Amino acid sequence: MNSDQVTLVGQVFESYVSEYHKNDILLILKERDEDAHYPVVVNAMTLFETNMEIGEYFTVFPNEVLTIFDSALRRSALTILQSLPEPEGFSMKQNLHARISGLPVCPELVREHIPKTKDVGHFLSVTGTVIRTSVVKVLEYERDYMCNKCKHVFAVQADFEQYYTFCWPSSCPSLESCDSSKFTCLSGLSSSPARCRDYQEIKIQEQVQRLSVGSIPRSMKVILEDDLVDSCKSGDDLTIYGVVMQRWKPFQRDVRCEVEIVLKSNYVQVNNEQSSGMVMDEEVRKEFEEFWEHYKCDPFAGRNEILASLCPQVFGMYLVKLAVAMVLAGGIQRTDAAGTRVRGESHLLLVGDPGTGKSQFLKYAAKITPRSVLTTGIGSTSAGLTVTAVKDSGEWNLEAGALVLADAGLCCIDEFNSLKEHDRTSIHEAMEQQTISVAKAGLVCKLNTRTTILAATNPKGQYDPQESVSVNIALGSPLLSRFDLVLVLLDTRNEDWDRIISSFILENKGHPSKSESLWSMEKMRAYFCLIRGLQPTLSDGSKQVLLRYYQMQRQRDSRNAARTTIRLLESLIRLAEAHARLMFRNTVTLEDAITVVAVMESSMQGGALLGGVNVLHTSFPKSPRAQYRRQCELILEKLELQSLLSEELRRLERPPGLLK
Ligand SMILES: [Zn+2]
Repeated sequence: MNSDQVTLVGQVFESYVSEYHKNDILLILKERDEDAHYPVVVNAMTLFETNMEIGEYFTVFPNEVLTIFDSALRRSALTILQSLPEPEGFSMKQNLHARISGLPVCPELVREHIPKTKDVGHFLSVTGTVIRTSVVKVLEYERDYMCNKCKHVFAVQADFEQYYTFCWPSSCPSLESCDSSKFTCLSGLSSSPARCRDYQEIKIQEQVQRLSVGSIPRSMKVILEDDLVDSCKSGDDLTIYGVVMQRWKPFQRDVRCEVEIVLKSNYVQVNNEQSSGMVMDEEVRKEFEEFWEHYKCDPFAGRNEILASLCPQVFGMYLVKLAVAMVLAGGIQRTDAAGTRVRGESHLLLVGDPGTGKSQFLKYAAKITPRSVLTTGIGSTSAGLTVTAVKDSGEWNLEAGALVLADAGLCCIDEFNSLKEHDRTSIHEAMEQQTISVAKAGLVCKLNTRTTILAATNPKGQYDPQESVSVNIALGSPLLSRFDLVLVLLDTRNEDWDRIISSFILENKGHPSKSESLWSMEKMRAYFCLIRGLQPTLSDGSKQVLLRYYQMQRQRDSRNAARTTIRLLESLIRLAEAHARLMFRNTVTLEDAITVVAVMESSMQGGALLGGVNVLHTSFPKSPRAQYRRQCELILEKLELQSLLSEELRRLERPPGLLK
């Protein structure tokens, strides 16, 4: 760019920020720290609308124009400061950065995929998930040199394209025609480097949910500098605005030169809150409302139609489908009296022999959940399930494991008992507090793992019903207690069942629900997205049932009270909220509480009332309403809640049209 162009761009930008960002600048001038770096976020669309020419220069020379923007910003700040009638409490800041956001939405500028070589030199935005973060370094970016002949002193910038190495100047830039090529470096000889900035590299990966089935996500390094350093962590979903650059290591004899494509970021936008958000069509919502209106008299029949659509290739397994659906719906996060956060996400573990369909549930659940990771206990990457410190070309990096990448989503873990050693220590915290604290190789941070866990595992050898689940699958009970539900699927001989299954497989008939009424995967995905937004509150009746059940379970386990902790009550509440969401309502009713107790009774954590049910052989009830009535009688009688029972029975006996 020539000097006229530089002046023009500078003037346009200076008047633009003075007009549109005066308040932002005033707030920065009011800050105390004069050496800190401050961003001013500018919307590209609005800027380019005020002056088309500036947009054209920006497209062609993004790096040059960004530098001009920063100095224009400083000039504007100085003018604003000098025009203040009462300048006390305000001070000039030298390190101001124009951060460009809001690019026009077009495929060249707004990307969901990793840029390629042909994009080098272009300013664009990329959306991705952080999978790796490096230690923060201090980078020396400028040094002074002196010409040995004319004593002219000049600054040389470190070369980004050569990993910020300093290239020895080749000729004297002095205006007097000096032809010297001998210089002395004045910086970094005796004192520590003077002109430095914070520097960090991260790695982002294309978001799995935006990829077509079967493609492997690609990744790319992103350079963060100044105030952008430490602005994000592993697992975060980002939109990064920046210039695609290439860089190579200084040439060395006999070493192949490799060119790497990186994104030199200008602005980092963390969008975790919207990550699982799916735009919900009003039409779709209406469709679901009509569905429930249709089943107003028999809501359990409506629910069972949804359950039948869940993993339809697996026959029966009614209870497992119910449990999976509840876990996918999820409960509500709350803060207890002591101020501790209680998670809203539920965790489910399926224990069973190979061939019982466990893995199919995992695959199905991952498909209908927008932000999901499907992995095994040993992990698909070296990071495993939690996080690990890896050394990459001499630098320590933190690499995020599956639970971090599935933050705010679903993590499906097959072969759960093949956990890596380093995961075993941190997975308890990851599951309960939903964070992972890291202090490795000089990297200290806390990563979020607010994820729902759906795990499956085989027994270690033949399952021995005489032994505990913990012994059978070789996982410690503290770890097992982090699961809200542990369902054991045993392939015990049952000839009637075998006959039904084989007829289902051979003739594909005898299905619990007519296959034409099954919901499509898209519909299931939309439904679960929608209900996760519901915030059901507990009714008095449901509270009574859950609390009484919890107390009874505690009494039964009195010799081993450690097993039944307050976690059980928290699980019950979460699952009851989840069931209310599944039933598309804003109140947790007695129906939800009774169902949760029935499911808990089939889980390892329960068994106080009915004592174990083989969940593998549970078929869909012919009359869901009659089944609920039986469960009501059984459970409320055992819980000695007679008045609740008679009230509920009276409600059920009213003619179907009046059932409310
Ligand atoms: Zn010279």
